[in-house]
Parts: sequence; C-alpha cells; structure tokens
Amino acid sequence: MTLNKPQKQRSPGNSTRSIHHGETFAADTGTVMPPIFPSSTYAHGNNCGFDYTRSGNPNFRILESVLSSIENCEYSTVFASGVSAVTAIASCLNSGDLVLCEENLYGCTVRLFEKVFKKFGLKTAWLDFTDNSSIHTISDLNPKMIWIETPTNPLLKIIDLEKVCKAANKLSIPVVVDNTFSTALIQKPLELGATISLTSTTKYINGHSDALGGAICTNNLEWQKKMSFAQKSLGLQPSPFDCWLITRGVKTLPLRLKQQVATADSIADQLAMHSAIKWVKYPFHKDHPQQAIALKQMKMGGAIITASLKTNQKQTYSFCKSLRYFTMAESLGGVESLICHPATMTHAAIAPETREKLGIDESLIRLSIGCEDFEDLSIDLKEALDPLK
Ligand SMILES: *Cc1c(COP(=O)(O)O)cnc(C)c1O
Repeated sequence: MTLNKPQKQRSPGNSTRSIHHGETFAADTGTVMPPIFPSSTYAHGNNCGFDYTRSGNPNFRILESVLSSIENCEYSTVFASGVSAVTAIASCLNSGDLVLCEENLYGCTVRLFEKVFKKFGLKTAWLDFTDNSSIHTISDLNPKMIWIETPTNPLLKIIDLEKVCKAANKLSIPVVVDNTFSTALIQKPLELGATISLTSTTKYINGHSDALGGAICTNNLEWQKKMSFAQKSLGLQPSPFDCWLITRGVKTLPLRLKQQVATADSIADQLAMHSAIKWVKYPFHKDHPQQAIALKQMKMGGAIITASLKTNQKQTYSFCKSLRYFTMAESLGGVESLICHPATMTHAAIAPETREKLGIDESLIRLSIGCEDFEDLSIDLKEALDPLK
C-alpha cells in the first residue's frame, strides 16, 4: 500500500501515485484514509519532528508526499492558497531585485508584485516570452528571477520552457513556473529545467471547488529550506482539514483530467466550426500559434478553451448567462464546467484600451471544461450560440 516499499518491476504510474501516499500516521488502526490532525501543537521531541502546526502537520506532510510523487521531485511545501505560494517565493527576494515576468501572468500575481511587493522595492519587467528576442532580453536585464506561466491566462499562449530555462540556467537565474493550468500530469516544469514549479491546488489538484491551497515543488534544497521558512515565518500554512480535502481530491486527478481533456478537445473543435465564433484557442489545435511547443512539452492539451464571439460585450455577457451547465464564475479546474467573461469579471478593472492591447477583447470567453457528459455540454453551447449566427 505504501510507496515506501519500492517495486521491482517499474516505478508507479500517475494514477497509483495520486492514490497512495507514503505515510498515513495511523499504523495502529489500519485506516485506509488518513485522519485529520487538527492539533495546533505537538509534544517536544516526538519521533515525527512536528512542533507547531504553523511549521508542519501530518496532513501537510501527506499532501506534500503525494504532490512530490506526481511531480517526480524531491521536495514540496504546501500553502494556504496559490497566492500564499506566490507570496512565499516573492518574500525571498530583496529590495532592488528585478523579476522578469511573462506579460500575461495570472492577475493576482501581477497585483501582488505591483501593489504589495513594489512598496518594498521589488522591481518587475514584463515580456512576451513567445517572442524569440525574449531570450536575449534575459541576459540584457540579468534579473534575479524569471516568472512564467504556460499556458497563459486567458490567452493560452504557450512558452517554450526548455528554451527559457536553458538560457536562465546558464546565468544561474532561478525560473518559477506557475503550473496551475496543467498540473504535473500534463507538464513537468522541473524536468524541463525550472527551479520551482508552483501550483494553485485550489484548481485541478483538488478539483471539487471546496478548498483553497497552493504548493511549491522543487529539487533544490536551498529553495526547499526557504519555502519551509516562509511557511512558518509569514504564517502561510494551510489548514489540516483543507490538506485532507485536497489529498482526497488529488486521488481522482488522473481520471478527471482524462475526461475533461477529451471533452475540451471536442468542444474546441465544435466551437471552431460555429459561425458565431470569431476564433478559438486550444493548445493542441493545429491553428494554435505555438502548437508545436505545446505538443513537445505537454502530455495533453488541457481542459481550458479560450474563444472570441462575433458579438459585443453585452451580447457576450448574455450568452454566458444563458448557459445551463456552465456557471459564470471565476476559477477553473473543478468537476463542474465554468465560463468566464474577462471583460466584465477578472479583467473588468483594466481600462478597455489596455485590455485590447493585451488581446483581451470584449467578446472573449474562457471555458473550464468539467466532468459532465460531453453531449450535454455540447448541446448547451450549441443552443446558446445558434441564435447569435
Ligand atoms: C488561481 C490561480 C492562482 C492563485 O491561486 P489561489 O489558490 O486562488 O490563491 C495562481 N495562478 C494561477 C494560474 C491560478 O489560476
């Protein structure tokens, strides 16, 4: 049952790794599911090395062992949310340090850098990493860290991780990859040369939209020590109960992703053929500008689709609202399908001109495909799109 007993024949596959964790801390009872350890404190000198839950807890450790196992890496640290994980990394930088970021980063990461860490002297530069010249900019600017997300949100640009990491590694610049949209099952940034793989476990890893969490995976012991330090010194630790929920959720990640990706692939085809649609972006589709890179570094095309309708802002909003199975909501990666209209939701605070410059027009929609039957999602979209022809 435990991964501590090495198999002779082969190293376990992703489904096995998602289900079996190294420790349950419940040897006496034979329990199959680990208990929840709400204890805030631990007797001094215990065998497991716990002292106070801000710096470690059995439920953190169980989840960390599963996440390291699917990421195929040495170390993992769990946090209260994806944003807590971002905070942990940013807190390791010094005043005056420059972070070179992909210009299409997740909005809350941008907000944290620009509205919080800027006050403490952190500098940022923004770059389109799909542009070939970005590689030269790395050596020109010589930043202290590079921060990438691929596929990006919401435009699903694909960045060549191997190429960027190679250039950065030559200069000993750590690369952080926010892997939330893919998870380790689709893409393994550390194997492509990244120093840190960051995931909001709130999304696909938990998969049930009922807990928030974040995780950092690395093979670098120095960074692991920094992450443990940040977890306890900044109070970024998750709750034991949320870790337990996420440990439960991750067990079905391979199954969920398989269905979500298969449905997303077909829905992307369906949308591309509909006359009310201007364009569709899906990483594995042949008309995606970086399809070749996606095929090289991703095992599957993911379950997020971005599209633009031939409608104005108001009609696009009404379209989103009229769907039966797609709830209009932020977030992604759950078993339920969601639809997001960035112009009125996630990117509403950005001036329309700036939005247009970023490529986020008023008729852009982002779909997170869930685990419902393909036929039901397909009919739902068709019925809402047909009147817009
Ligand atoms: C949601 C998300 C985050 C933030 O995670 P929370 O768990 O919501 O704090 C960071 N990066 C990406 C790409 C996300 O989608």
